[in-house]
Amino acid sequence: MRVGFGFDLHPLVTGRPLVLGGVTVPSERGLGGHSDADVLSHAVAEALLGALALGDLGRHFPDTDPRWRGVSSLVLLSHVLELVGARGGALVNVDATVLAQAPRLAAQLGAMAARLAETLGLAPERVSVKAKSPEGLGLLGREEGIAAMAVVSVEVAG
Ligand code: MG
Repeated sequence: MRVGFGFDLHPLVTGRPLVLGGVTVPSERGLGGHSDADVLSHAVAEALLGALALGDLGRHFPDTDPRWRGVSSLVLLSHVLELVGARGGALVNVDATVLAQAPRLAAQLGAMAARLAETLGLAPERVSVKAKSPEGLGLLGREEGIAAMAVVSVEVAG
């Protein structure tokens, strides 16, 4: 059994949709970045790579590569799952937390978890997505960005 940890942070900018876990959340601003900047999916992908010590997301999907411009991060997540599978890894569960001052995410957490579970081929009860307010503190509290953290466990054959 392996454990992987992932973290990601993106700036909140105007003129972009806010996509978290593949779900578009109603918001005046969205996250800036090369892909759809889905900070939650990126954290889960980083955790998956970490479980098998496969480096970080930037190594596998460089932001200089036009193939990944504007692409859904669920596609990146599927690719990462394939990398893990090719090394005999089977994802067991995901536990993730989104750190956002605004918007409030409680109503969308179930949809995010369902979308991630579907993408990862997991039963819904094996994917946990939680939200945490930074209580007005620091760059997250000032609504300059949204961060996400994720832990995964992976069973490796052999
Ligand atoms: Mg990212």
